[in-house]
Order: sequence, then structure tokens, then C-alpha cells
Amino acid sequence: QLALRHWVDARFPQPVPREGRSRLLVLAGPTAVGKGTVAAHIRENHPEIHLSVSATTRAPRPGEQDGVHYFFVDDAEFDRMIATDELLEHATVHNRFRYGTPRRPIDAALAEGKTVLLEIDLQGARQVRAADPSANLVFLLPPSWDELVQRLVGRGTEDAEERTRRLRTAKVELASQSEFDHRVVNEDVATAAREVVELSSASAR
Ligand code: 5GP
Repeated sequence: QLALRHWVDARFPQPVPREGRSRLLVLAGPTAVGKGTVAAHIRENHPEIHLSVSATTRAPRPGEQDGVHYFFVDDAEFDRMIATDELLEHATVHNRFRYGTPRRPIDAALAEGKTVLLEIDLQGARQVRAADPSANLVFLLPPSWDELVQRLVGRGTEDAEERTRRLRTAKVELASQSEFDHRVVNEDVATAAREVVELSSASAR
């Protein structure tokens, strides 16, 4: 079986790296591809990159800290943040909880000359693109479709019905990759993280 990298390249046009991308870097990709792991790796090893902390209505998982991994808020607070235009983008992810990117910390970090990394879903990536056409969009790919399925099963956090739903969404999401400026294959977390960081230092403005 062909690796997804080749399968995908044959079916979708290669995104053309664009000049003049900004320091606002968006990392998106299908379920279980390892976006969160790559983002965590960057958080630990690249303090020069500001990793955006999202607001979410889901409950914290064991080990997750408020203000570090997410701002955990209730629906009323999330509604308030939308009404006062505090969120750069927001979406309901996997038909369940709401997630959004607070605007102010991003503007502050960009004003300080930092690179800002957003680890968000496809709906959010599209909203960021609409709000700031110069944003640098990176799509994280699994090495193969089978590997994606194995990662989703292996982490054991979803039941069979939820896995089927996520894989259906993943197929649709994979078809959107040509909207992105760059694609990175997550074969190995450290390598993928390095590639993302290199893309960030390549964006000059
Ligand atoms: P989890 O609940 O597993 O931490 O995240 C679930 C999904 O929500 C992931 O696909 C993640 O990329 C997405 N997500 C996290 N924060 C945001 C955000 O601020 N905006 C959007 N649109 N998606 C987000």
C-alpha cells in the first residue's frame, strides 16, 4: 500500500508556499494525527514560540491545568466571550464541546515580535484564514490512513461509534489539505515539531 503522502500527492494539488506569510501559525489536521502531541512538544522545547491557550466548554482531563492547557469555562462564559468579540475564532468540535481562541494574548505576543502557534480544528483554521489572510496554515498528516486508524484505536479514548464518526470526518478533513500553505507528515513527533518550528522561522514578518 502506498504511503498516504504519495496517495495524497497524486490526488490533491501541492500547496504553493506563499511569500509574506505572517508569524501567526495555525496547526490543523485530522483526528488522532497527533496535533496535540506536536504542540506539547513545541511548548516544552521552544519557549520562544507562544502557544495559544484556547477556551473550551469541556471538562479538564486528569493532569490538565486551567490556563495552561485550556481555559475551562462554562457555556454562559463562552457565550459572553463570543458576544464581547474576545475570540478570534470558535467552533463546536466533534459535535460536542465548544472551543475558541482568545484574541488578546495573540495580539500581544505578535506585537512583541513572537511567533504564535494555534493548534485548532479545520473550521477554526478557515476562520483564522478569513480573519487574517496572511496567517501561515500548516496541515499535519498521518504517515498513512492505516496508521491514523491505529492511532485512534490505540489511544482508547473513544468508543467504536465515536471512532467511526471521527474517521468519517477525517476523510473530509484530509480533502481540505490543499487549502493549507504547508503540509507536515507526523511520522515522528520530534521531527514533525522541528518542521513546524522551521516553517515558523521561515515566515519573516
Ligand atoms: P481536545 O478536547 O482533545 O483537547 O481537542 C479536541 C479538538 O479541538 C482538537 O481537534 C483541537 O485541535 C480542537 N481545538 C482545540 N482548541 C481549539 C480552538 O481554540 N478552536 C478550534 N476551532 N478548535 C480547537
